[in-house]
Amino acid sequence: MGLEEKLPEGILTTQLEALVNWSRQNSTWPLLFGLACCAIEMIATGTARYDIARYGSELFRASPRQADLMIVSGRVSNKMAPVIKRIYDQMCEPKWVIAMGICASAGGPFNNYAIIQGVDKIMPVDVYVPGCPPRPESLLYALDKLREKQAKDTFRTYANLDQPTQLTASEIDALESLRQKQTA
Ligand code: SF4
Repeated sequence: MGLEEKLPEGILTTQLEALVNWSRQNSTWPLLFGLACCAIEMIATGTARYDIARYGSELFRASPRQADLMIVSGRVSNKMAPVIKRIYDQMCEPKWVIAMGICASAGGPFNNYAIIQGVDKIMPVDVYVPGCPPRPESLLYALDKLREKQAKDTFRTYANLDQPTQLTASEIDALESLRQKQTA
């Protein structure tokens, strides 16, 4: 006994949160950019052989305002960090980040002054993908993990969205002045 038994055929009932999460899980659009060698594997993920379209994520968007997933595919240099951070800030909420490869996750083999030791120093990361480079299957698995996370989202999750992200304006300025010193 329930409402479903009284409804005509073809009508479904669900919770609004579940419906919203379902639509987000199946239409997560990545931002169109790559940083280094990992980007080649990310590009391969979009080909017919790997078929990222099965997740509705084949629409790599050239504008941060039309993307809700940032795949950081490659090492993040001090020079690029303020740029990436600004692009991340321009993306609308809700938004997600995948750190693709060991360089984006933790600096990789580049343990030096020029490379940020993990993109999570400048923005929150949802899924880390190990490997150098990770294969397209690994990125698809990361998308699977992200979908699991999206399925658990609640409207309450977004209640504190106006909290500042991890990098403050003065920290961005410090990165920018470091970049200027390096390029002088
Ligand atoms: S993890 Fe490996 S393949 Fe990816 S950017 Fe770093 S060095 Fe290149």
